[in-house]
Amino acid sequence: MREELLRVDDLAKYFSMTSFFSLFGGKGAELKAVDGVSFSIDKGETFGLVGESGSGKSTTARLITRLVDATRGKVHFEGQDLLEMPRSAFHKFRRRIQMVFQDPYTSLNPRMRVRDILGNPVKLHNIVPTNQVGDRVVELLELVGLQAEHRDRYPHEFSGGQRQRISIARAMALEPDLIIADEAVSALDVSVRAQILNLFRQLQRTKGLTYLFIAHDLSVVDYFCERVAVMYGGKIVEVGAVEELFNKPAHPYTEALVSAIPEPDPSREFRPRVLHGEMVNLIDRPPGCVFYGRCPIAEPVCGEVEPPLERKSGGRQVACHLR
Ligand code: SF4
Repeated sequence: MREELLRVDDLAKYFSMTSFFSLFGGKGAELKAVDGVSFSIDKGETFGLVGESGSGKSTTARLITRLVDATRGKVHFEGQDLLEMPRSAFHKFRRRIQMVFQDPYTSLNPRMRVRDILGNPVKLHNIVPTNQVGDRVVELLELVGLQAEHRDRYPHEFSGGQRQRISIARAMALEPDLIIADEAVSALDVSVRAQILNLFRQLQRTKGLTYLFIAHDLSVVDYFCERVAVMYGGKIVEVGAVEELFNKPAHPYTEALVSAIPEPDPSREFRPRVLHGEMVNLIDRPPGCVFYGRCPIAEPVCGEVEPPLERKSGGRQVACHLR
């Protein structure tokens, strides 16, 4: 039976922009980085969030983990609203939601040895008694395919793939339920990328992890995720099971994204759909559909009325007047 772990409801982040007018007391413009995002993730599920740069994927992750304060919306984790609770209470939940970032070199302190990078959070959160922290560090290294002797090295002494393994070990140090992987394999070579994805899978099997997997590369999401939400201009435009959504995309933006996935079979035609027009201006966005300026099938109504994200057959959700 499916059990919901995370539910995001109408999440939004507007950044106010200092403008000529606001300097003189007028109303400053707002950049709507995330605007009314809703989705849910079940326990043990791998849920992808895809879209091009600036679509609001990473801001959504930062809102969930309260690294950025939300303008509005709710984030329920096991039924409790993370955004409503005091910081002290949130600290307890934060341990259960860990992030793995794109660039392990900048997310790992270059002046700390691996034993401290992994040992400090274990000590801080009292995961094991103090005299067992050293053993726990070795366990964590072995969990991610490294060895005990690696604990005395600094981050710069590792390859990119090994550094990402250390980042994953650091996330696992706090025994999380949910890992938010934000472009966690984007900077890695293709062969190393496959190894890290396999490590994520293995950890899911052995530790029962749930993933929110953020990526711009659809082939990675196709390989790794069960369901996916497609973001464009700070909004979710389509949600569905990966296989169905990639085989039969409904939203015109998803169609364009899917058409750009390289075709591994050279005998099959590869014709990526080129989008014309400009990305929507997130500052004082015009009314209507967020994809209106680039949509090849747009009609006049699209420029006036914003399409809601509506549930279709088979659990698919689509925000489009015509689909
Ligand atoms: Fe295109 Fe209109 Fe659908 Fe938006 S609502 S995706 S502009 S057809």
